[in-house]
Amino acid sequence: MEHTPASSLEWGEAPEENFTGRVWFGPLSQADDRPLNALGVLFGPAARTDWHSHPEGQVLYVVSGAGRVQTADGETVEVGPGDVVHSPPGEEHWHGAAPRSYMMHLSLTTGGDTEWTGRKVSDEEYGQG
Ligand code: MN
Repeated sequence: MEHTPASSLEWGEAPEENFTGRVWFGPLSQADDRPLNALGVLFGPAARTDWHSHPEGQVLYVVSGAGRVQTADGETVEVGPGDVVHSPPGEEHWHGAAPRSYMMHLSLTTGGDTEWTGRKVSDEEYGQG
């Protein structure tokens, strides 16, 4: 057994190049070579990822706050605690917090790294949520 107390989890700020606003990552998987990549992700108000996809898809589990998820076809959902969002392999999307709320979700992925499109989520796109 490997117990990591909350106080020892090493939260780090997400890189500005792939996110808008303030976002923090808490790594739950202990090593890169494990098949499951599990992260706690905390978004500040209005913070969001850039447009991206995941080679083997992604499961998001919302732990707290209020957020939104949008796909490239314009479908947008508002999410809250306990909600689960599954993105199939290769589907372009973004996720983030609502304008006036923090939002924390778990991110569960397998396979390779996130594929970033290099496109930020504009305020207009964000505002459709
Ligand atoms: Mn994603």
